[in-house]
Amino acid sequence: MPVPTRVVFGHGRITQARAEAERLGMTRPIVIATAQQADACEDLARAIGGLAYPHAVMHTPVDVTETAVAFVRDNGVDGIVSLGGGSSTGLGKAIALRTDLDQLAIPTSYAGSEMTDILGETEGGLKTTRRDPAIRPETVIYDPDLLATLPDAFAATSGLNAIAHAVEALYAADGNPIVTLMAEDGIRALAAALPKGRAGHDEALYGAWLCGAVLGSAAMALHHKLCHVLGGTFNLPHAETHAVVLPHATAYNAAAAPGAMARIARALGADDAAMGLHVLSKSLSAPLSLKEIGMPEDGLERAADIAVASPYPNPRPLERAAIRRLLDDAFHGRPPAAG
Ligand code: NAD
Repeated sequence: MPVPTRVVFGHGRITQARAEAERLGMTRPIVIATAQQADACEDLARAIGGLAYPHAVMHTPVDVTETAVAFVRDNGVDGIVSLGGGSSTGLGKAIALRTDLDQLAIPTSYAGSEMTDILGETEGGLKTTRRDPAIRPETVIYDPDLLATLPDAFAATSGLNAIAHAVEALYAADGNPIVTLMAEDGIRALAAALPKGRAGHDEALYGAWLCGAVLGSAAMALHHKLCHVLGGTFNLPHAETHAVVLPHATAYNAAAAPGAMARIARALGADDAAMGLHVLSKSLSAPLSLKEIGMPEDGLERAADIAVASPYPNPRPLERAAIRRLLDDAFHGRPPAAG
């Protein structure tokens, strides 16, 4: 803290992309997006003299990265510009790790990956994460105008994904008072902004910046572990999975992290942290069950096994039976168990 990333924030700042790329010495950057944002990717590539590459997919599969690295090497690419949600940022980071090229990240969701030194990659049905300074983008442009095309349903789950970073930072083993301050205000900003829809985009993006920054500064715990298992092994959609699991993981840790719970509840304006998150999800019409986002019920045992096999540090020790119950509650969309 503070985070070692150059940040440009504000309406219309996308127009500074070329100058920011040049500031990093880029003359022929690859411009990454997913297929869904191919048009915006082409436009940006034209504007900054880059090569459009709209082939990012969720959970950063290693084979997709290897194809992209070959493209970078074959085309004399000298920098990475990622436009989009965490999937685009993830591919940019994976290329940077293998090529040492600089990154300019231009996020269009609330995932927060642009502020972290974390890369999650999927291979052989398992998602593994690593931290390395080479992974963190050098420059980030936050432009709320880019959120105008964000579908409402995804805005809600992506915002809950950001809140999850702050929740875990509040009880992280290596947290600190500045991280705590940022995390609480990140939750407050997003909880206030998300129900406002488009009118809340500025405040939500500010909240997402805070939440990404604390994810980049403190350790992840049970909640992120569960989401990595569910995303990596069962290919569940990332933001939706975070939205469903968060109240349950919070309830699991409630008794072991009372200080964090008090801050989460205060930021939400709720009496109880886990129930406050559940109520927020409901009010945003976010999915409440793993069942509705594609989780096979016969995968719950395996998910519990993987989650306890290589746990992240967590305030409450991971007990397999309790984790299995948590997954059952999340699968059926029950309210979180009483803390
Ligand atoms: P995503 O990037 O896959 O986006 C979901 C879909 O929404 C995509 O099709 C995307 O093109 C589209 N989209 C995004 N923004 C849009 C906009 N403004 N307008 C229209 N369409 C838009 O999903 P995500 O939830 O942002 O990111 C998920 C991925 O990011 C996962 O792989 C996750 O592991 C990773 N992630 C990594 C970190 C980290 O620190 N390493 C942090 C958060 C997320």
